[in-house]
Amino acid sequence: MLPVVALVGRPNVGKSTLFNVLTSSRDALVADRPGVTRDRQYGVCRNVDRPYVVVDTGGLTDSRDFLARATVKQAVSAIDEAQLVLFIVDAKEGLLVDDHDVLQQIRRSGKPCILVLNKIDASTEAAAGAEFAALGMSAVLAVSAAHKRGIDALQAEIRSRLPEPEGSDQDAGIQDLKKHPGIRLAIIGRPNVGKSTLVNRLLGEDRVIASEVPGTTRDAIAIPLHRDGQDWVLIDTAGVRRKSKVEDVVEKFSVIKTLQTLDQCDVAILMLDAQEGVTEQDASVLGYALDAGRALVIALNKWDGLSPYQRERSQSELDRRLDFVPWAERITISAKHGSGLGELTDAAIAAYRSANTEIPSSELTRGLEAALTAYQPPLVGGRAPKMRYAHLGGTKPPRIVIHGSRLNHVADSYVRYLENFFRKRYKMVGTPVAIELRNGD
Ligand code: GDP
Ligand code: GDP
Repeated sequence: MLPVVALVGRPNVGKSTLFNVLTSSRDALVADRPGVTRDRQYGVCRNVDRPYVVVDTGGLTDSRDFLARATVKQAVSAIDEAQLVLFIVDAKEGLLVDDHDVLQQIRRSGKPCILVLNKIDASTEAAAGAEFAALGMSAVLAVSAAHKRGIDALQAEIRSRLPEPEGSDQDAGIQDLKKHPGIRLAIIGRPNVGKSTLVNRLLGEDRVIASEVPGTTRDAIAIPLHRDGQDWVLIDTAGVRRKSKVEDVVEKFSVIKTLQTLDQCDVAILMLDAQEGVTEQDASVLGYALDAGRALVIALNKWDGLSPYQRERSQSELDRRLDFVPWAERITISAKHGSGLGELTDAAIAAYRSANTEIPSSELTRGLEAALTAYQPPLVGGRAPKMRYAHLGGTKPPRIVIHGSRLNHVADSYVRYLENFFRKRYKMVGTPVAIELRNGD
């Protein structure tokens, strides 16, 4: 499972600046688009050999009013969930009383910690060096988040302090998990949309339920199942399965668990409640799925309770709110009554296949030529961008790399045209498709 790193420090030391540096992806698949909301407190650092979840905890100090106390509580629980804490201070200002308060909280948690001296820019070379040394921290790194200095060294330090990925002798569980063939499926969504009902329905209808396979930690469960001729492994990081019908307590929504689940699956089913429409929290979960580049199917649940008029309204709202993910299939289901599930798993299989599509370069180049013939790229500064050939740079999700020259200012609308052209030609559904323009050869 993805480990968790918490950024902790008093306000204004540069936590959110560092958060952005750590979580911004070099090859962002999905640009920020209206309609995708994300909680800027949570992200994944992917450009490293061991990816991890980054949490910006906000303030741990300033507990005067109720609201602030809630923030402190949140920060403390983020530390609890973390495997590593980055204690961030402002090297220009030196240590303030608030910093000591924060440090006390970290020490209380007993979590491993790296002291990060931020804002080491041209002039300030750790002005208060002695002061920081007196804290007696074993790991101290100087960075400038704003100028992206010292980040590689910080990444190396983080890497060396994160627990080793499971494997080795540890956890026979994960070995078992890897042994299981099948599409790794996750069901994600905010509380109460019907995730547990769907999981239980999928399992209950299946007569060959194997036993649960413990995953990497006691929280990660992978459940093999066989359905309609297809092997699946259900990833249940958030423990939706174990929620008993009797208790029916609404689980606390955990962004961290959602990120970890997305990391482990091949295909995610995002569940929405048709009776409630698309909420901010739904849009936020969707944003994480897009960030993760996962194959995706949208399940519109509780379809049973709607009148024909409501159904129509619900469909059109969905089309409007989700118009930036036209490639994700929307399936109406009733987890409670078991309707639409065949269609849902069919869509998941199609999405899985599309995400893993292999296309030879010769064919991709032919596809590119066909796209260019149908519609030339608009001139840039009076000159025509040249697109010469294409190859598949990766799968899960497919990344189509187009080689040529003068590709720097090709209009976004043209890139989208290419994407749609390739999607149609290669029948790719349910997966993001990235187009990368590469100048040079
Ligand atoms: P947070 O409250 O801890 O999340 O802090 P922010 O990331 O919002 O940063 C607070 C201020 O410090 C902003 O004005 C940043 O631009 C600035 N800042 C962040 N990192 C650096 C840095 O490395 N050098 C300098 N000079 N300023 C920085
Ligand atoms: P979770 O929090 O996402 O796991 O949601 P649950 O599976 O616990 O479901 C929340 C509530 O929605 C429960 O009361 C379910 O009985 C109800 N529910 C789930 N699926 C459906 C459905 O298809 N139709 C209707 N009408 N209610 C449903």
